[in-house]
Amino acid sequence: MIAFRSDRLATLYLFHPLQKLPRRGPAAKKIPILMYHGIRDGESQARHPYFRTTTTPAVFAWQIGYLARSGYQSVRPDEAAALLLRPERGPAKPVVITFDDGLQDFYTAALPVLRKYGMSATVYLPTACIGQTARKFHGRDCMTWAQVRDSHREGIAFGSHTVTHPQLKALADGAIRRELEDSKKTLEDELGAPVSSFSYPYAFPETDIPFRSRLRAMLEETGYRDGVSTIIGTAGRRNDPYFLRRIPVNAWDDIRLFQAKLEGGYDWLRSLQYLSKLVS
Ligand SMILES: [Zn+2]
Repeated sequence: MIAFRSDRLATLYLFHPLQKLPRRGPAAKKIPILMYHGIRDGESQARHPYFRTTTTPAVFAWQIGYLARSGYQSVRPDEAAALLLRPERGPAKPVVITFDDGLQDFYTAALPVLRKYGMSATVYLPTACIGQTARKFHGRDCMTWAQVRDSHREGIAFGSHTVTHPQLKALADGAIRRELEDSKKTLEDELGAPVSSFSYPYAFPETDIPFRSRLRAMLEETGYRDGVSTIIGTAGRRNDPYFLRRIPVNAWDDIRLFQAKLEGGYDWLRSLQYLSKLVS
């Protein structure tokens, strides 16, 4: 049964077709950055599909298979940020595949699929949730450091999702800085490689301009070079490379909606998201 989805209908029948109309001049390069969390079966049907963050292994496999068959090539967020400025220097159809929270099902369910289709991904870890044995994040098993290192050897990139996954905006600057510095250092020590990408936990307070510029300065000062946010949309050259837009995907995306999302047909939701943050 297909739940009624106004976001799906508006995307497929209004905004995606509108967006494909001929424009004056060449369209600016946009890069889809997909946002996944858990890859597992079964989740409560209580929430509207828009808010769900899990993708079943079967749906994930066809989504990644679809990307491979459609000629998409996976790049890291730093490569995407560079490509937005110099599109001629990379693949014709770049895509960034990201995972937040470092859940163990990335290792058990997502990695084999990515390997099969020759795709890479970037995983953002709240470092306090990663241990020598599996720790929990919101009741779910996280990866261990051994699994993180194993994935890294297979070409998976890692970034910081803070240490403790806090509401950063509620913290004092000193505490924010510690979250940024300590997670970066732990990741670099465990991986033996530099880490310079950051993913903002929870909804990004994009309308709070002073906070946004303070955070940006702290990210820069602590050695980060790029990052992703929960602002909805395909990434464009006017996006701040520290807060690149992403497209939420989950198990309830059928093939047409998935395709529309990749091609920017879901970007209209960003205005609604922005407005709702202004009034909330
Ligand atoms: Zn998170």
